[in-house]
Amino acid sequence: MNPYYREYSQYLKELFGCKVQKLSVDMAFSCPNRDGRLGTGGCIYCNNDAFSPDLEKRGTPVAEQIERGKVFFGRKYPEMKYLAYFQSYTSTYGESGRLLDYYCSALTEDVVGILIGTRPDCIPDELIAGLAALERSHNTKIMIEFGVESMHDRTLERINRHHDSSCAIDAIERCSAAGFPIGVHLIAGLPGEDENDIFKTVDRINALPVSSVKFHQLQVLRGTKLAQMHAADELTDCMSFTPDSYARLCARIVKRLRSDIAIDRFVAQAPADMLISPKWGLKNYEFTALLHKCLESGEPY
Ligand code: SF4
Repeated sequence: MNPYYREYSQYLKELFGCKVQKLSVDMAFSCPNRDGRLGTGGCIYCNNDAFSPDLEKRGTPVAEQIERGKVFFGRKYPEMKYLAYFQSYTSTYGESGRLLDYYCSALTEDVVGILIGTRPDCIPDELIAGLAALERSHNTKIMIEFGVESMHDRTLERINRHHDSSCAIDAIERCSAAGFPIGVHLIAGLPGEDENDIFKTVDRINALPVSSVKFHQLQVLRGTKLAQMHAADELTDCMSFTPDSYARLCARIVKRLRSDIAIDRFVAQAPADMLISPKWGLKNYEFTALLHKCLESGEPY
């Protein structure tokens, strides 16, 4: 067991009473920040292909995607249970009845829960009520993951999120009141933010009913507005990290984060052909080793 922070895998094990593997499902959902309802350009860093690069999978029936995942993991871990992970784009954006049908179709044998990633402004009460009913009728567990990114409104505006921090607080509180464990996604190194801004975001997350967080360093990906800004040398007020300096920042975040909040990850690694910067070439476990070395060494980081 990790002595420094609560690991997400351990948290899932405690929640479900067994080992659970996430299986990503890509239903070719859209996003209001891309389809014109709020905007067309999306968040400045967003290239969804970076986190769901399997284009063949997109739009394949949910149950089929789940079965493929089970076959892959089941060979090595026959006892494994699964969490259907609706991750790409905005997975609660659409008509509630149709969305609930999608989620429901993921609940095949050995799938013990559903994890849904979304924007804080795309979770109407009607859908929350439908999810709560689905949870009860199928004796399953619904978990929600919100892209929060920062709790500073000036940053959210700058990165073109089209929602503010009060929207995130409201969504987290409404979903938590319905009994769903809440995860939040945060980005370190957003334009105009320094370490203190990141720590203030962590402090505000600590005050909310949040069960888990996922961090990653800001990545400049091809095909994004951020890539254009990078090429035009407009990212002069972005923190720039080496793996070591980022590990030291993460060590301070670990110390600051409420101890019951599980940490899913600290870094993201987009496919090499999409990534412009930073090119660390580190695997997740290599970064974790760096971070643990930092935490072992004690203050100051
Ligand atoms: S990051 Fe999420 S909210 Fe932003 S444009 Fe991409 S899919 Fe939409």
